[in-house]
Amino acid sequence: MSTKELEQKYELAVYPRRDIVLAGGQGARLFDDQGREYIDCASNVGVSNIGHGNETVAKAVYEQYLTLGNCYSMFYNPVRARLAEKLVNLAPGSLNRVFFCNSGAEANEAALKFARSSTGKPEIIACMRGFHGKTMGALAATWGPEYQKPFAPMLPGLKHVPYNNFDKLEAAVGEQTAAVLLEPVQGEGGVRVGDRQYFQKIRDLCSDRHILLIMDEVQTGFGRTGTMFACEQLVPPDMLCLAKSMAGGLPMGAVLCNDRVSVPLKSHTSTFGGNPTACAAALASIDVIERQNLVLNAKTLGDYFQEQLRRIEIQKIREIRGLGLMIGVELKEKAGPYVHKLMDKRVIALLAGATVIRLLPPLVISREEIDTVVKALKEVLAE
Ligand SMILES: *Cc1c(COP(=O)(O)O)cnc(C)c1O
Repeated sequence: MSTKELEQKYELAVYPRRDIVLAGGQGARLFDDQGREYIDCASNVGVSNIGHGNETVAKAVYEQYLTLGNCYSMFYNPVRARLAEKLVNLAPGSLNRVFFCNSGAEANEAALKFARSSTGKPEIIACMRGFHGKTMGALAATWGPEYQKPFAPMLPGLKHVPYNNFDKLEAAVGEQTAAVLLEPVQGEGGVRVGDRQYFQKIRDLCSDRHILLIMDEVQTGFGRTGTMFACEQLVPPDMLCLAKSMAGGLPMGAVLCNDRVSVPLKSHTSTFGGNPTACAAALASIDVIERQNLVLNAKTLGDYFQEQLRRIEIQKIREIRGLGLMIGVELKEKAGPYVHKLMDKRVIALLAGATVIRLLPPLVISREEIDTVVKALKEVLAE
């Protein structure tokens, strides 16, 4: 049987699949099993920030796995210790502690629990169009009846308010509010950039009323938006949730916390959380980001990319928006067909809602590759 037939036969069908078999990758390029080459503008939804096939991370993983691949957090470990220190040094504001886990949903799941344990209050305010993962707790914070309905009832205590609307958020806050959870740029929700004043008002409100501000930077983290973390361009949170590109493509997540956060001993743990293999990958990946100036690259090439996209004069485009190399092209019609046509032009892009083409290339993409993507997009939109 072919790869496609095997997967269709033996896996639960929960992912809408695209009809190619990816077999390799290098930098910002992906290769399918027919030898066709694509420019990657998806990065596995924000995972592959340092590009594919990075040798520094590969070596770090190989060496760490041989030395000590796993180490449950009941023991101390030097690699985990170094990564915790590194993350706290990178993090803005007063964030000074780390909890390690293995994915974005798990990071948000932990943050929801920490919000309750720290405040003694049950309610969380999240945003419409927000995405925080699909495990049972995180799913309650994620917007979208289509995701929630088959798994009802949801965790109680979650309220959703419109994004970038402070008055609606303030009106939803009450005596029982433990935390506000939101993305600095909504990714799945359509690449919607958070307004600075909006975030400043939320920060002030949270500080005044003993509410924790949780920022979900699972997609925006590690250079994507032109700063190491997007919250550097907004306000410092009380908890910062990370995953996706954190460990150069290996599964890893984390919650960075400040002194407002407290959790009883043993109340939240994770078997794989902080395992030395993932920690070594994360240290190596952060090293690559720093040495290759990928944060600056995201800023300059992101600006360049958006500028080139704005020059496309086609009526179908409603708006180009984004931050760094997290870019949305909103159309006046459904975007799905164009994402598929882009694949025929050897560009892999994403959707973000029905009408938005989302571009999340690895931060190592070149100006020439961006030009090729812009040209392809212009051609498919002109058809
Ligand atoms: C992808 C994503 C998640 C979920 O991460 P998983 O690793 O798939 O659980 C949560 N929040 C945001 C903002 C994301 O983009």
